[in-house]
Amino acid sequence: MLNIVTTFFSRGDLLFKGGWQGKILRVDLSKGKIWDEPLDKDIAYNYVGGRGVAIKILWDELKPGTDPLSPDNILVIASGPLSGSPMPSSGKLVVAAKSPLTGGYGDGNLGSEATQYIKGFGYDAIVITGKAEKPVLLHLSENGAELKDASSYWGMKALDTIDAIKKDFEKTVSVLTIGPGAEKLVKFGVVVSERTRSGGRPGIGTVFGSKNLKAVVVDRKPDFKMYDFDEARNLGNEAAKFLKNAEMYKAWVNQGTMLTIEWSQENCVLPTHNFSDGVFDEWEGISGDTMYEKYKFKISGCPFCTMPCGNMSRAKAEPFAGIEVELDYENVAMLGSNLGIGSMDAIIMLNYLADQYSIDTISLGSAIGFAMELYEKGKLPEKYKDGLDLKFGNVDAAIELTERIANRKDGLGKILSEGVKKAAEIIGNGAELYAIHVKGLEVSAYDCHAAPGMALAYATSPIGAHHKDAWFIAQEVKKGRLEYERWKAEGVIELQRIRGGMFEYFVGCRLPWVELGLSLDYYPRFFKAVTGEDYNFDKFFEIADRIYALIRAFWIREFGHWKREYDYPPMKWFEVPLTKGPYAGHKLDRSKYDQLLSHYYDIRGWDENGIPKVSTLKKLGLDFVIPELSKIVKLTE
Ligand code: SF4
Repeated sequence: MLNIVTTFFSRGDLLFKGGWQGKILRVDLSKGKIWDEPLDKDIAYNYVGGRGVAIKILWDELKPGTDPLSPDNILVIASGPLSGSPMPSSGKLVVAAKSPLTGGYGDGNLGSEATQYIKGFGYDAIVITGKAEKPVLLHLSENGAELKDASSYWGMKALDTIDAIKKDFEKTVSVLTIGPGAEKLVKFGVVVSERTRSGGRPGIGTVFGSKNLKAVVVDRKPDFKMYDFDEARNLGNEAAKFLKNAEMYKAWVNQGTMLTIEWSQENCVLPTHNFSDGVFDEWEGISGDTMYEKYKFKISGCPFCTMPCGNMSRAKAEPFAGIEVELDYENVAMLGSNLGIGSMDAIIMLNYLADQYSIDTISLGSAIGFAMELYEKGKLPEKYKDGLDLKFGNVDAAIELTERIANRKDGLGKILSEGVKKAAEIIGNGAELYAIHVKGLEVSAYDCHAAPGMALAYATSPIGAHHKDAWFIAQEVKKGRLEYERWKAEGVIELQRIRGGMFEYFVGCRLPWVELGLSLDYYPRFFKAVTGEDYNFDKFFEIADRIYALIRAFWIREFGHWKREYDYPPMKWFEVPLTKGPYAGHKLDRSKYDQLLSHYYDIRGWDENGIPKVSTLKKLGLDFVIPELSKIVKLTE
């Protein structure tokens, strides 16, 4: 044991009626110091939790220009007032920091029982700075918060670490951990929990690694203060009944997001051959039906979920037979069709390696696809080929390259471990055209050559290209695929307010609403029952806009300048048309995209360069941002 907190579990909850527990656990790994701080009431009411609390702490406390891998970066692990409550699918936790992959704001959410237990011990968030001299884990228990030697776990694969810690602690604990990829500082290292959940695509696991923090372990402590628990439980039961009776419930728990493979193929958005096409000839080998009929052996999912969508699947064919992993759409598309791989067994192996090394499956699939396209187009310089035959569909080469990336092996492996943006800069030779990213974060699994609204959603996502804030593609396919009209900018912002705002700050899974149609009207009711506070949608959306504007201000401050081009989708979607499928020949139109982006800025109250206007900042209560931003960019009134 290295240190025990002295002022443990003071009554921060007296500040709040419920939901918020009233304290933040602070940890300085360099000094081995741990202490409590009250959660500021203004932060709670105006930024709520999760992503909101994370960006406020990062804005207030992170010195601009901090190296994301230095001890000074700030790691925030935040629950929200509704996480771990009777709200359906509430077992989510946000992890955030300045991103080593993008240099801007980075976060992710993952399913973890820790979100509830942290609150059980009286905390809304854990904020970690510094760097431990040797590997440590942070342990929260009835005895307090302690830093413990974790040298024996360092170098251990992530899933094995979870098993080992659970065994060694000999009691029920929730574990957040990383594997050797994040330890070795692959820039897209993620955090893994509950064996099948991971999150923090922009390198939040890498920040764990840079701090010599192997794990956060939280003893089971399920009860936390709620304003009206009976009402929350009644609402939870009512919502669960609705979900279990929903028309799509059975299909959802059978296949979860894997239902999307077939839909994406039909609609020509399934990323194929490094986002060269939206249809894949071998799609049936990786479809949801194939997964369900041949590979799935168990339902899994996040804790406290009434509609679990995880597909525990087992490989059948040698040499991968027996490997078990949870499959979902993003992983299968990025490690399958995007690499020209139509074998589910091979995808299971690649996914398993990514989970064990704790590196992001989406960025991994993008990095390998990028290398394969360069290789096939004769654009990969000889010195970077490293003896690999990187043709699309070559499973052995994909596995070998995964190992080299995860271990940051000198040569192509190390270059790709930086992410595709940086890799393209290193490789040169026109490689930039094939790097599929926004702001340095690799694009998740929807091709947008013929989907301008989804392209806008990716381009304006606050962490770089990810679909979690605005999965606009479904609306776009239904209502007008190729249009660049203002309604698309309005639709993207509406989704960003709900998905990227509400669900990321009160912290819970959006899928009961998105997939099974649970009415959004439940959420203010849950909020009232759990916190005792009356928040309507106007207030919810205002908070979401505040968080978005503050995140944008953070990016500007970190970059020291800002350009409209940073809100563009990948260059390839403008330059190289699709070759196959119903949208063959289509690509994005740059001038029309610019108009769409201008609509987006106009609705948000941002100027023509994507910088929030002074009037917008004031309206959102972000006056404190103005002096710092005006030193960097010219602000518009
Ligand atoms: S629906 Fe899926 S992602 Fe959402 S909480 Fe349940 S298991 Fe997790």
